[in-house]
Amino acid sequence: MTSPSTTASTSVWRRIPLWQKILAGLALGILAGALMGEDASVFKPIGDVFISAIKMLIVPLVFSTLVVGITAMRDPQKMGRIGVRTIGLYLITTAFAIAIGLLASLIFQPGVGLEMSFESGVEAKEAPSLVEILVGLVPQNPIDALANGNILQIIVFAIGLGISLTLIGDKGEPVVRVFESFAEAMVKLTSFVMALAPFGVFGLIAHVSGSYGLEVLLPLAKVIGVAYLASVLHVLIVYSGLLALLGKLNPVRYLQGILDALVVAYSSASSSGTLPVSLRCAQKNLGVSEGVAGFVLPVGATINMDGTAIYQGVVAVFIAQMLGVELSMMDYGMIIVTGTLASIGTAGVPGAGLVMLSIVMAQIGLPLEAIAVIAGIDRILDMARTSVNVAGDLMVTTLVAKSEGELDEGIYNAPGKS
Ligand code: ASP
Repeated sequence: MTSPSTTASTSVWRRIPLWQKILAGLALGILAGALMGEDASVFKPIGDVFISAIKMLIVPLVFSTLVVGITAMRDPQKMGRIGVRTIGLYLITTAFAIAIGLLASLIFQPGVGLEMSFESGVEAKEAPSLVEILVGLVPQNPIDALANGNILQIIVFAIGLGISLTLIGDKGEPVVRVFESFAEAMVKLTSFVMALAPFGVFGLIAHVSGSYGLEVLLPLAKVIGVAYLASVLHVLIVYSGLLALLGKLNPVRYLQGILDALVVAYSSASSSGTLPVSLRCAQKNLGVSEGVAGFVLPVGATINMDGTAIYQGVVAVFIAQMLGVELSMMDYGMIIVTGTLASIGTAGVPGAGLVMLSIVMAQIGLPLEAIAVIAGIDRILDMARTSVNVAGDLMVTTLVAKSEGELDEGIYNAPGKS
């Protein structure tokens, strides 16, 4: 039998909004790491379980949501418009992001006067060509794409299936209903997994905060500060500005609505892993329709990496400053172009941006070994860039939904979120 005091504490726990519990997990995790140091890694398995649980949701959730969304839209022209707007906004915001990163490093000069030795065996990656990207979009075997979690291929197959189900009319109804019920069940499962978020975030952050001592962080404090500042400015100026100007929407409501996704992105450093949480925030807190969220967010989690773009701008200039290399206007142009491509090619998993940085470095002739200087603290930078990546996906999703009349502003403007 449960005692009255257990029941009372359960209901107190239930009454606290999820975002507050997640933020508390974050704060306590930082504290536990600071107090316990390396020993805080005993909590890491809790974080690992949480990450596995959200990863478990990605493929079935994205696939079913997208099929249901497409069949609900019933208008191929509208889908085309949504596609063009999505890609356009993703590219524009990424270009802004690199520019902000470059400017921040030029103004604050985090690398000037810094002397650090480095050696590493980093090899340059090649940016994938456009043809390769396009050919790779079509799955040879959809089951293989689902099994391997290849999100872009899953999107292509789900769009094809959704359109076909719509075109066959009544005959498609039973399958559509199966997907509807499956998608609903996945949303329910997501809310169960999210109940673990406060503990998962605690475990992940305690481990990270316990494993970075001040002696590794301090020499690089300036570049970390510049990358964080540029990230915050990008969200506050570019995202809030676009929402207010283009969407005529209150940015504060957007920031409140995406909080769960931000904290999960920050602690997991994976935008693909955060996708189930982003989908939930978009629909439940921001009022985006299932169709728009189901298409725009998975595409964004795969190709839209504004935080990664900021990071590439900041770090490329930082390394040039540290090595005393003068960059020309041509080099800056190169950083913008290759940085945008590299960010598109970056997978939404921890540490991917560090590897892609080698593309930008190689383009402007900086020695790849210098990447080793920041490799040791990359997780700290990764957490910030992943949060921006996720915030950008959610901003574009909101704008696209608004422009298509697919945003429920009653939900968007509601004060209590989560
Ligand atoms: N970790 C980032 C993400 O998942 C990618 C990166 O490393 O830049 O969005």
